[in-house]
Amino acid sequence: MGWEGGLRAAERAVDWPDAADAGLVFIGRIRTPWADRKDCPRQGCQDGPICRIEVFEPWAVALKGLEDFTQVEVLYWLHRSRRDLVLQSPRDDGTTKGTFALRSPVRPNPIGTALVRLVGIEGPTLLVRGLDCLDGTPLLDLKPDRCAYTPLAPPKASDPGVPGT
Ligand code: SAM
Repeated sequence: MGWEGGLRAAERAVDWPDAADAGLVFIGRIRTPWADRKDCPRQGCQDGPICRIEVFEPWAVALKGLEDFTQVEVLYWLHRSRRDLVLQSPRDDGTTKGTFALRSPVRPNPIGTALVRLVGIEGPTLLVRGLDCLDGTPLLDLKPDRCAYTPLAPPKASDPGVPGT
């Protein structure tokens, strides 16, 4: 696969499977100020710098109505990550955590998510604050912040229909 970097102490990689399932399509590209991982924030911050999300044709028409929202969920493909680690050592101190217990970009399907603040739209390009990805990161999807059907609070154990009640 040509991933950069070796394993740290106690990290574990697995054999990469031959076949893949999903035919994802990159619908755009994200332009940020960060060319290098060491400069990139670990998580985006909504008062961070303005970044540009360029939506490719034929998908630009699908932005219709997004201007009504200030909060947008962005899904992106962390394309420079290795994908075969199941145990990782973020602090490189000999201790490890499972990949699914981390928000590390290193995961079998390196999907990143960020809730960003929409500050402008210029044709097929969104101007947003709150990203944490490298310049040129491929865009997977955009979703407006939760809609009217989203529950406001997590269900309580006593609510009808909650398993075990
Ligand atoms: N906010 C997303 C999430 O929680 O799903 C991503 C969090 S991840 C910790 C962010 C880090 O991933 C950045 O600090 C940078 O080191 C790394 N990163 C950003 N863009 C990347 C890319 N395109 N490929 C690989 N690594 C990337």
